[in-house]
Amino acid sequence: MTKFSPFEVSLWYATAAPAPETTPLEGRVRADVCIVGGGYTGLTTALELARDGTRVVLLEREEIGYGGSGRNAGHCTPTFTHYSLPELRRMLGEPWAERLIARQTRANDRVGDMIQRYQIQCEWQQNGYVQAAPHKNALRGLEEKVRAYNAVGAKTRLLDRDEVEKIAGSPRFHGGWFHAEAGHLNPLGYARGLARAVMQEGGTVHTRSPVVSCKPEGGAWAVATDKGAVVADKVIFATGAYTVGGWPKLDQTFKIHKVFVAATQPLTEDERRTVLPKNTTIHDGRGDIYVYKYNAEGRIVASMFPMGRRGRNMDYTHRLMSDRLKWLHPQIRQEIRWEYFWYGELDMQYRTVPRLYGLAPGVVALTGLSGRGVPTGSMLGGILSEWARGVPEKDLSLKLEPLTAAPFYMNFGPPLTLRYYRVADWIRTRLAGADLPPHA
Ligand SMILES: Cc1cc2nc3c(=O)[nH]c(=O)nc-3n(C[C@H](O)[C@H](O)[C@H](O)COP(=O)(O)OP(=O)(O)OC[C@H]3O[C@@H](n4cnc5c(N)ncnc54)[C@H](O)[C@@H]3O)c2cc1C
Repeated sequence: MTKFSPFEVSLWYATAAPAPETTPLEGRVRADVCIVGGGYTGLTTALELARDGTRVVLLEREEIGYGGSGRNAGHCTPTFTHYSLPELRRMLGEPWAERLIARQTRANDRVGDMIQRYQIQCEWQQNGYVQAAPHKNALRGLEEKVRAYNAVGAKTRLLDRDEVEKIAGSPRFHGGWFHAEAGHLNPLGYARGLARAVMQEGGTVHTRSPVVSCKPEGGAWAVATDKGAVVADKVIFATGAYTVGGWPKLDQTFKIHKVFVAATQPLTEDERRTVLPKNTTIHDGRGDIYVYKYNAEGRIVASMFPMGRRGRNMDYTHRLMSDRLKWLHPQIRQEIRWEYFWYGELDMQYRTVPRLYGLAPGVVALTGLSGRGVPTGSMLGGILSEWARGVPEKDLSLKLEPLTAAPFYMNFGPPLTLRYYRVADWIRTRLAGADLPPHA
């Protein structure tokens, strides 16, 4: 069994608004729909269903947000990661691609609406996202992104050098792609707020309730934990990278890859006036990505992928992260202290879009969010609740597939791709005559 990274060490665990009071499931209960997994995917599905009066019970093995939903970096950018929209259309085919693109690119409407409607305390800031151009040759790809995303209704635009400097407060970028609808939040606060909303709408949430089996019983399904069972007509597994048991081989549908996140001490007010002065999220556009933003206390929260010494040797990792931040923002004079540092696990799929598995009549599972799960998990509640309400398979926004194991090459494909991006970035930056950050 995978040993997951520690949960309690993150900045979010120290700062998120408290979770609603919940108890483990004890005894047998009846429901229309049982949802397994208390991350964004499970919670937003439960919320959709509870709102229209469906009897819904959500079972979480540990606590709300224990998985990726409570430990991610908090960027909420309603786009796809890795593949462009034309590539996704080729991979997924129609009508699936267009439906999913529509849902994903409008995901922040849902996020903003849920936060507003249920008054979720999660530091939500919708000030946009910049994917920067580290050299002028990167601008061509960003122009294509503007065309592709704006054609499906997103509000994005190309920034020139001066504009990006005004928004990011960094002199290192040669332009950038601005997505006005993107936001950032305290991810654990958001997950806990969603759980509170589910309960407010009449849904039931049980934590410390690990699902150990799911068996047919009298025309329904008995979803058993160590101390009780939910008998439900429909069952949804939304257990992501943190899947433990519940349904045979579900944990083989993806490969786990780690990400780490770190948070500095709060920057001074003077520094905050010029470093990310608009409180946006910045992706530095490098092959070796560094994404960062503020939390409500004015700490910079930055994420990277472990690679080579990075992530293993902590002194080196802290130095690398500080050197990158100071290179991007020479106006930061003080020494950077990474006061929080934590890891989390991603459920990677080769298409990097979620996969919906039909496990048995009345039982589905959804895994493989592959990152960008804040908007993705939040919009998946719309798709899964439609399935639970009986929308025909052909009208769903994800194709229902039989459970299949992730291909073997997913063990090494993503790390190799990251290394390739890093080398390609080095070569392109040199060819463009631009500067490389330290440790590149
Ligand atoms: C370090 C890190 C940084 C990231 N940064 C970002 C970011 O900045 N922006 C972004 O958009 N995305 C980011 N992601 C991705 C995003 O966090 C995830 O894709 C998303 O949270 C997954 O949500 P989920 O609901 O599908 O799964 P999870 O949040 O993982 O929830 C699954 C839940 O199921 C429970 N469970 C498992 N087995 C059982 C069982 N048998 N019985 C009951 N419960 C069970 C688990 O305990 C867990 O709580 C990041 C991920 C990580 C790990």
